[in-house]
This record gives sequence, C-alpha cells and structure tokens, in this order.
Amino acid sequence: MTRGSVDRSPGFYDPAMETMAPEDRYHFLRRRLKETLQHAAKHAPNLTARLESAGLTLDQVAEPDDLFRLPPLRKRELPSLQKQVPPFGRLVAVPASALQRIFISPGPIYDPEGAGPDYWRMARAMFAAGFRRGDIVLNTFAYHLTPAGSMCDEGLAALGCVVAPMGGGNTETQVQVLRDVQATGYVGTPSFLHTILQRAEEAGITPLRDPSLEVAFVSGGMLPESLRSVMRQEYGVSVTQAYASADLGLMAYECHRRSGLHVAEDLILQIADPETGQPVADGMAGEVVVTTFNTVYPLIRFGTGDLSMLDPAPCGCGRSTPRLTRILGRADDVTKIRGMFVHPSQLDAVMAEVPGVTRHQLVVRRIGFEDDLTLRIETAGAPGDAVTRLESSLREAIKLRARVEVIPQGTLPQDAKKILDERTWE
Ligand SMILES: [Zn+2]
Repeated sequence: MTRGSVDRSPGFYDPAMETMAPEDRYHFLRRRLKETLQHAAKHAPNLTARLESAGLTLDQVAEPDDLFRLPPLRKRELPSLQKQVPPFGRLVAVPASALQRIFISPGPIYDPEGAGPDYWRMARAMFAAGFRRGDIVLNTFAYHLTPAGSMCDEGLAALGCVVAPMGGGNTETQVQVLRDVQATGYVGTPSFLHTILQRAEEAGITPLRDPSLEVAFVSGGMLPESLRSVMRQEYGVSVTQAYASADLGLMAYECHRRSGLHVAEDLILQIADPETGQPVADGMAGEVVVTTFNTVYPLIRFGTGDLSMLDPAPCGCGRSTPRLTRILGRADDVTKIRGMFVHPSQLDAVMAEVPGVTRHQLVVRRIGFEDDLTLRIETAGAPGDAVTRLESSLREAIKLRARVEVIPQGTLPQDAKKILDERTWE
C-alpha cells in the first residue's frame, strides 16, 4: 500500500544472502561457524572452558548439528559470569576499549556494541517491513541503558531514513511530533503504537483521511493479529514485527507475507529441548538457541530462554531461511506433556479462535503410565460446537489429544493457572 510518494514494493535488502539456495546456505553456515569458533577460542576464553568441560575439541564441532554436543550457555548465566570476570565474563573477543557502546540490561547484564554501521544487523528487517530511504521515523525505543533505541536507530540510518529519537513515554509529545514532522514510520512496541494512534485520534488527527503514518516496525511485545488488523483497517498503518535481543541483535523478522519470522541469514538458530538442549523435530516447540558469527561478541549455542518453533516450508516472498512461527513465551513457563512442550500462550491462541469461551484451564493428570489431558472451559451461553472445534484445533496446535469439559461459569478461581499439572511421580 502506498499513500505517499515512497515506493514500498517488496524486494530484498541483500538479495544474495536472503535468497541463497539451501545447499549454498549450508556451506556458508558451516564455513562461518568454523571461522567464528576459531576466532572465539582464540580471543574469548569462556568458549575454550566450555568446550573443555564438554570434552570437545574445536574439530569436533564442524557442522551446525555438531553444536548440539555443546551444552547451551543460558542467558540467565550471564549475570554471574560477568560478575566473576567483569565486565563481560570472558565472552567478548575484543578489548573493552575497542567497543562503540556498552549497554546495561536488567540482570544486570552488560551488552557490548562493536564499532561500525548497523552493528545489530537490523536494516534488512526494517527494509522487509517497508521502510525506505526518506521515511521520517519516530523511534520510541529507549536510547539509554538498553540497546533497543540504538539498535533500530542504526538500522534506520543504514536505510537512509530520517530518525526522530523520541524514546518511550510522553504520548502527547509523540503525537505532536508525529503531526508536525509528518512522520511516515514508527518503531517501538505494538501497544505503544496503539496508544499513540488513539491519542492522535482524540487530538483530531483523523486516520486514513489525514494520514502520515504508513509503516510500523514493532518488537519487544506480543502482536496479536487482531491488533495488527485494527492498525491496518482503522489507521492505515502496515505493522511488521521482528525478534531481536540485546545479546544477539536481529534473530528473525517478518517479510511482507507476515506468515512467521524468517531466521536472520547470518546466524545459526536451532530449536532445542529446554531441559536437555537436544534437537526437537520441525514444527515442535522448544527453546531458541542461537550461534552468532559476531567477531566482537561471538555467542556460541546461546540459550535465549524464548520458546518457539520452526517452519522449514518455503515462503512465497523468495527468502530461503526457515521461519519461526512466533515467539510463544518463556521456556521457563512450559509444561512437558507426553514429550511435548506446551506453553500457556498456545492455549490462549486456540481459545481466541473459538467464540464464546470465556475462561479455560488445561489439567494434566497421570493415569497409569499415561499423561491424561482435560481442557476445562467456561462459556458465555450455550457452548454450541465449541467442544468439537476446540478438540480439533487443540490437537493441531499442541499435537496432543485432550478431552474438553464444559464447566459452569465462575468455577475456575480468579488466579487459576492456565496449565494445572496434577501429575505425581513416585
Ligand atoms: Zn517470506
């Protein structure tokens, strides 16, 4: 959709990388893995220690799949590693004096930023979101302590966009600037975009008739499809999301098809069993574990603690990397049932599709040697075909069969867990 003068037709920021044939990509990843491991083993002593304690030599980690032999380094280990050897726990491969910035994330975790343009590799994701040279963009991510503001700022600069470095909060000011500079782009969380658009409407800026905002790049919060379509239909804003972190920069991003998030081309992203670190099958939920080729901060087998699943099917956009279906939540919140990891957000998504269901709870029991599942639902009015619909969509979403039981409204306590695990192990 083009309302202004900017040509937003889809295409590629880096065609060779984005459309690389699968066998070429395999060789590319293999070569970069080897280079990164050699570099990290030489300059970031933490890796040498990890390899040693896993009984591995560098040569034994030659293929991306060999990485599964190395236990993941969990994000939650960073604060103590950094405390032992400040500031970066021997994980950074350059002297601190060679960095461009040092950020401080909750934990606290020190996040290094190396020198050079677009260090966090965000530009390709913003291009895929429709941002183009000449866009005037409100960047509402924070610019201090944590890297999100800088991360996006540098990506926008690489694309030739003009940035208003707003930071968060101050909704009135955001609306005023949006109007005064006729901003065409927004960067920030999905919910804050909604707040700004609502406030703009109250201030008499009529969306669709009096528009300037066309594209939004969001991250750092859940983007329900219902919110995305409200932005599109009521405000004329096309919203695209990406998955990034202060440790790794860009990890995955949506293309214009918006059917999952393409894994960034220049890293290895694997889905692993959050307990054992071992691979899970395509389409199954597990922890996102990433190996970057970053020469400043070469994180190898880094367990993000986020839960997602991979779809290897080709995408109509022409990009050849697999897609994360979406980020399901934190790996710490999962329940393992019959070998599958189930997150409460997967249940929420299924319930949202079936009208009339007001509350729900999945009860897991142990009957004999089998896990037994009952989905208890409260409905507004008669349940209709909700039971049959839920049984089949639940089976599709979590690959497990559950009995659906309709219970009277008000049965579930206010603080009821979405997944109630009543299994005992003796
Ligand atoms: Zn695509």
